[in-house]
This record gives sequence, C-alpha cells and structure tokens, in this order.
Amino acid sequence: MIKVVHTIKEVRQEVENWRKEGKSVGFVPTMGYLHEGHQSLIANSVKDNDKTVVSVFVNPMQFGVGEDLESYPRDLEKDTKLCEETGADLIFNPEPEEMYAKGFCSFVDMNGLTKELCGKSRPIHFRGVCTVVSKLFNIVRPDKAYFGQKDAQQLAVIKRMVADLNIAVEVIGCPIIREEDGLAKSSRNTYLSAEERKAALILSKSIFAGKKMVEEGMRDSKELIKAMTDIINTEKLAKIDYVDVVDFETIEKCDKIQGETLVAIAVYIGKTRLIDNFIVDVK
Ligand code: AMP
Repeated sequence: MIKVVHTIKEVRQEVENWRKEGKSVGFVPTMGYLHEGHQSLIANSVKDNDKTVVSVFVNPMQFGVGEDLESYPRDLEKDTKLCEETGADLIFNPEPEEMYAKGFCSFVDMNGLTKELCGKSRPIHFRGVCTVVSKLFNIVRPDKAYFGQKDAQQLAVIKRMVADLNIAVEVIGCPIIREEDGLAKSSRNTYLSAEERKAALILSKSIFAGKKMVEEGMRDSKELIKAMTDIINTEKLAKIDYVDVVDFETIEKCDKIQGETLVAIAVYIGKTRLIDNFIVDVK
C-alpha cells in the first residue's frame, strides 16, 4: 500500500528505514495532476530501483507573476491511485510552508543554460526549479532521479546543476509521451477548449515535420526555424513564443545542426502556453 506524507521528517524517516535494509531509491519530482508522461518516469524508477518516491508539489517559486500558479490543476486522490498502480512506494506532498519556512532566503541559480528558450519568457522559472529540485534531492537523497525530455531545457539544467554542485544522484532522461494524435501529454492540456485542443496539434505537427527535414539532411538552423514557423503560423489560434535550435548540453543557439541538438518550440494556444521539442544527434 502506498503511503502519502506531507512533512520532510516523514520522508526522511521512510527513506532511512529503506536504507537500513540496503534498498536503492528512485525519485520522480512532479507538480501532480499525473498522466501517462509522469507514469512512464515512475515506471522506469520502479524498474530500476527497490523503492520509488514521487513528489507532488506545485512549486510557487517557479511561477512568475501572471502565470497559472492558482489555476494549476490538482487531484491528489487520482495521483495517489496512479502512483500506487504503477508501483511507487511513497508520495511526498508538502504544503508550500513546509518547503519554504519563515525566513527562507537561499536559492540555487544558474548563469548559463537558462538564457535561451523558456528562460527568456520565464526569467525566474529556472531559479525556482533549481532551488526546489536541490531541496527535494536533499530531502529524499535518491540514487537516481527521473525527468522527462518533454521539458528538455529543464533536463539539461538539472544535469548541469548536479554536475556543478556534485550532487550524488544519477539524472535519467525519459522520452516524451504523446496522445494518440501526437500532442505531447501535459497537465496544462486540461486548460484547452475543444477548439483549442484541435489547434494544439500544430505543435506536434511542426515537430514531426521538422524532425523529418533534419533526417532528410537539413542542417541550417535558420532554414529549419523558418519552415517550422511557417507551419505553426497556418493555425489561427497559435501564437509563437519561440522556435529555436540549441546545443542540448549548453542550451546555446547554434547556426548549424550538428552533434546533440535540441529543436524546441513554445506556442500559445489561446491563453495556454504549450511546449514541445525533438532532439537529434547528427554526427
Ligand atoms: P510536471 O509535473 O509538469 O512538473 O512534470 C514532472 C516531470 O514529468 C518532468 O520531468 C516532466 O518533464 C515529465 N513529463 C511531463 N509530461 C511528460 C510527457 N508528456 N512525457 C514525458 N515526461 C513528461
């Protein structure tokens, strides 16, 4: 039976008990409202480790003013069921006050990797992500932690942070899980009206087309960006935040597609901001 705890002390106690029994621990940080994308990370952790901890925490620190902190969907009961069915052992669901006690004033920030893509339109986002993930790593102290390629910049940022700060955790990236029609699964898809849900398909459509162009030999970033932009702009309800080509490790813009390259997009469908991407390794 899965256990749901709300305090740092309880998580530490559980993990300490497992450690005494020599068990390995996997960790999946989430903001909840779990779907098959999250589930695939949990399943990977269950497969690789003796015990799996899932955190469900809508982290106020990574939301900017005017973003969707208040409206972010929540359903702990459903999340608990999904975690239990997938084989997780513990859910950590803290209140913001538990994570950020009175007087809190220490942060983990990053100079590189956060200037481009989502860092541009969400300037404080990655400081919030790095701070909360560091805290969660210190609380859970897992052997392995699982992140989705859906948030590719976040995955690169976390890998860099773990290397830079010598955090003793192995970061594992997992592939994007999509709806049958191609839309990348996201808790934010619930914001879409029926009409917007249809329009949102333009994201995966441009991603699949872009990937094909690279596979067929396109190497010029500008050309690729233009072609993908043109596809997205055929959809009336879509407003582009960015279409960009960056090095997957450094998240710096590159003119030519070579090595491990991240092609990422962020598009507003109505008021909802959606992201998608593909990663290619061009030798
Ligand atoms: P979130 O709850 O949106 O903060 O996401 C928690 C974790 O699940 C992150 O590592 C995400 O990258 C990952 N994730 C979210 N959606 C997907 C998806 N469609 N496929 C794979 N991983 C995902």
